[in-house]
Amino acid sequence: MARRASVVVLTGAGVSADSGLATFRDAGGLWEGQRVEDVATPAAWARDPARVWRFYQLRRAALSTVVPNAAHDALVAFERHCLAHDVPFLLVTQNVDDLHERAGSQRLRHMHGELAWLRCERCDARLRDLAQVDPRRFLPCPTCAHARLRPDIVWFGEMPYHMDEIERALADCTHFLAVGTSGVVYPAAGFLQAARASGARTYVQALERPENLAARDEFVAGRAAESVPALLASLAPVLMRES
Ligand SMILES: [Zn+2]
Repeated sequence: MARRASVVVLTGAGVSADSGLATFRDAGGLWEGQRVEDVATPAAWARDPARVWRFYQLRRAALSTVVPNAAHDALVAFERHCLAHDVPFLLVTQNVDDLHERAGSQRLRHMHGELAWLRCERCDARLRDLAQVDPRRFLPCPTCAHARLRPDIVWFGEMPYHMDEIERALADCTHFLAVGTSGVVYPAAGFLQAARASGARTYVQALERPENLAARDEFVAGRAAESVPALLASLAPVLMRES
């Protein structure tokens, strides 16, 4: 018996890059000139929270200067197409910006956290805020007396979010797409392998062939904003035939 169609899409830095947002993967582990170990680890926050806070406040402020691109828009249209045909859809992003939700994505999980959110360094309090982006001033936790809010970003050495749900979706999916991702950062780099193992058809879009590509993956080279709309448009009718 054929399995009912089910789609998982993983997006990475290439999708944000086409809106003008720099990321860690751009230049040898640097993000806006900063090393990962100086701004994106729990140890960096413990050692120099002012530097880390300033870095993320600047990234948070920069969100208001960018807009979603054609890849974001095409993913929204594809999600609506899937849901209109009762095809389960999940968009998993490694990106920490809010461009997918601003484009209109609904079934979206940020596995590495979100710049739009802050969380207490001590308790479980979380706060969505993009208005307070002064890089010189820490924000206090609304619940604790003296604790500070930190970026709700999954730093290196911390556990990515939503992994149980993502792993279930990968085990069930019949079609998996990796878009704009380098294929070198785990655990996301393992999703392609997991989808193959569950028998899904696999599609990979990236500027260059990623390291985790296999012969059976359908590979599309190019910029996300240019190649993703065509890839999704060609996939939509295939899905409907198979669902
Ligand atoms: Zn707190």
